[in-house]
Amino acid sequence: MIIENLFTQKKPVLSFEIFPPKKEAELENIDATLKLLAALHPDFISVTFGAGGSGADNKTLELASKIRREYQIEPLVHLTCISYSKEEIKNILKRLEEAGLKNILALRGDVNPQIPIKDDFKYASELVTFIKEQGDFHVSGACYPEVHLEATDLVSDIRHLKKKVDAGAGHLVSQLFFDNKIFYDFQEKLKIAGIDVPVEAGIMPVTNRAQIERMVNMCGASLPEKFRRILDKYGDRKEALFDAGMAYAVNQIVELIAHGVDGIHIFTMNNPVVAGRICEGIKNLI
Ligand code: FAD
Repeated sequence: MIIENLFTQKKPVLSFEIFPPKKEAELENIDATLKLLAALHPDFISVTFGAGGSGADNKTLELASKIRREYQIEPLVHLTCISYSKEEIKNILKRLEEAGLKNILALRGDVNPQIPIKDDFKYASELVTFIKEQGDFHVSGACYPEVHLEATDLVSDIRHLKKKVDAGAGHLVSQLFFDNKIFYDFQEKLKIAGIDVPVEAGIMPVTNRAQIERMVNMCGASLPEKFRRILDKYGDRKEALFDAGMAYAVNQIVELIAHGVDGIHIFTMNNPVVAGRICEGIKNLI
C-alpha cells in the first residue's frame, strides 16, 4: 500500500503513532497493545525512530515489520538523518526494502548534545532526495502549524517545507496542536505557498498534566484559554483530567473533520485505552 495514495481514496484517513518500547521485554508485550489498536482499524500505523545511537533502527524496523506481517496494517517507518552517514542510511533503506517497508516518514531528528551529528544530512529535505534516489520508496514529511522551534519565522519555515515537498514528500503529518484555528491558518498558508499534498492533523490526547507540560515545552505548541481552564480545573484529579482530555481531543477531531481535514494522526503514546476512547467518539465520522 502506498500511504500517500490513500488520501485520494478516503477522507479523512485515520492513523496512529506508536513508539518501539525501550526494553526488550516490553517489545514482547507490545502485542497486547497492537491487538487493541488493530481492532480500531487505522488506515496505517507510524512507528517512531529513536534519536539515534545503538539499535534505534533495529527496534523501529522490528516493530514496523511485525505490524505489517502479523496485523496486515501498513506501517509508516520514521527515519531520522542528522546522526547518520549516507552509507548508514543506505543500509537501513536496504533492510527496509527487504522487509517490504516502502513508506517512510523522512525526518531530520532533534539535535541532541549526547548524540554526535554527522555531516551528510543537514535537513529532512536532503534525506527525502536521498531516499528517492535509492529506490521505490514513498516518502512523507513532518510539518509545524506553530512553526518549528528553530525556525526564525513562519515564512521561512514554509519555504523550507516546500523544498521538502518538491524533493518528493507526498504527504505531511503535523506536529501536535490544541487550537484548530492555528491549523486552518496553516493550511491556507500552505495552499498559498503551492504545497498541495495531503496534510494530516497531529492530535495528542492529553492524559496527565506533567505529560502536557513536557510536550508543550518540547514542541512549542500553544495552549488555548479553554484548554488552560481544563488544566486548572482538573489538573490535580487524574481520572477527571483523563475524561476532559479525551473529550477535548474528540471535539478537536470532530471540528477538523467538519472542516474537511485530509487525515487525523493520533499520537497514541502506546496507550490503546486512549486510542479506543477517541475512536469510540468518532466512530461514525470516519
Ligand atoms: P526539517 O524539515 O529539516 O526542519 C528542521 C528545521 O530546519 C526547521 O526549522 C526548518 O525551517 C529548517 N530548515 C529546513 N530546511 C532548511 C534549509 N534548506 N535551510 C535553512 N533551514 C532549513 N524525531 C525523532 O527523533 N524521531 C521520530 O520518530 C520523530 N517523529 C516525528 C513525527 C512528527 C509527526 C513530527 C512533527 C516530528 C517528529 N520528530 C521525530 C521530531 C523531529 O525530528 C524534529 O521536530 C526535528 O527538530 C525537525 O525535523 P524535520 O524533519 O521537521 O526537519
